[in-house]
Amino acid sequence: MTRIDHRGRHLERIAEVRAGREPEKVGYPIHIRQTEVVRTAMVGTGLLRVTLGGPGAAGFEAHAPDEHVKLIFPEPDGSLRLPEPNGTMLKWPRPSPTSREYTVRRYDPVAGEIDIDIAPHENGLASDWARSVRPGAVVHVAGPPGGLIVPHHYDRYLLAGDITALPAIARWLEELPRTAKGWAFIEVADAGEEIELSEPDGFEVHWLHRGERPAGTGDALAGAVTAVTVPAGERVYLWAAGEAGQIKPLRRWARDALGLAKADHDITGYWKRGVADFDDDH
Ligand SMILES: Cc1cc2nc3c(=O)[nH]c(=O)nc-3n(C[C@H](O)[C@H](O)[C@H](O)COP(=O)(O)OP(=O)(O)OC[C@H]3O[C@@H](n4cnc5c(N)ncnc54)[C@H](O)[C@@H]3O)c2cc1C
Repeated sequence: MTRIDHRGRHLERIAEVRAGREPEKVGYPIHIRQTEVVRTAMVGTGLLRVTLGGPGAAGFEAHAPDEHVKLIFPEPDGSLRLPEPNGTMLKWPRPSPTSREYTVRRYDPVAGEIDIDIAPHENGLASDWARSVRPGAVVHVAGPPGGLIVPHHYDRYLLAGDITALPAIARWLEELPRTAKGWAFIEVADAGEEIELSEPDGFEVHWLHRGERPAGTGDALAGAVTAVTVPAGERVYLWAAGEAGQIKPLRRWARDALGLAKADHDITGYWKRGVADFDDDH
C-alpha cells in the first residue's frame, strides 16, 4: 500500500480504488508551483485560511480528503531552494528545503484557487508566515504527491483529530457518499473553533472542548474515540491525525480492540509538542 506509482493513469486508478475493497495510495503527477496569496480569512477562531491563486495554481489536482502540499519557505539566509520538475516527479535538493506540510482544504478549478487552513500557534515558521502574509505575496507549493484513496463502501468511518486534522476531516465529511455512516471526533479549544461541516446524515459529529489546556495535551480525544462500539460484523475504516502523542493510543486500540487490518486504518502524527517540522515515520 505504501508504494506510489507515478506513471499516470491516476484518474482511472482513483475511480477503481474508490469502487473497490482495499484502500491504496495513488500518486498524481507532482508539480512545483509559484502561487500568490489571494486573501486570508479566519474560519472559526482556530483556523486561518490562506487562499492561493495566480497562474501557477492552474491545473492543480485534488482527489483525496487528506492529501497535502508542502509550502516552501526561504532558508534562514534568505535564499530560496526549490525542487526541480523531473518528469511526473520532483527532484529535491539536499538537504531538503525548509518546508511545512498542509492539507489541501479545497481546490476550485474555476476560480483557480487553493485553500490551505492553518492553525496558528506560538513560534511556528509557517504559523507566523500565515499570520503576517498579505495578498500578493508569492509562495511556492509542492505536491500533492498523491493521496490515500479509500473505498466508499465501508459500513462505517471513524474520523478523529485535533484542529490540524480538521481541514482533512471537513473534506472527508464533504466527499463521502451521503449514505455513509460513522463518527467524527474533533478536539478544539472551545466552541469558537468549531466550524460548519457537511456531514452525511448517518454521521455523529462530536466536538471535544480542551479549554485552557495547551494544544496537544490530555487524553480526551483518545478516550472518546476508544469508547466507540462498532456494531458487530460491520467493516470500519479509521482515520486519525493530530499531535503524535495524543493519537498514539489509537494505534494499539485499532489493532487489538478493533482488530483492524493495516489497510483499514491510517493514523498519522501531524505535529509533535516541542518538535519543529515533525515528520511521522512510524
Ligand atoms: C500530512 C499533514 C497535513 C497537515 N495538515 C495541516 C493543516 O491542514 N492545518 C494545520 O494547521 N496543520 C497541518 N499539519 C500540521 C503542520 O504541518 C504542523 O503543525 C507544523 O509543525 C506547523 O509548522 P510551523 O512552522 O507553524 O511550526 P514548527 O516550526 O514546525 O514548530 C514550532 C513549534 O510549534 C509547535 N507546533 C507545531 N504545530 C503546532 C500546532 N498546531 N499547535 C501548537 N503547537 C504547534 C511544535 O511542537 C514546535 O514546538 C499537517 C501535517 C501533516 C504531516
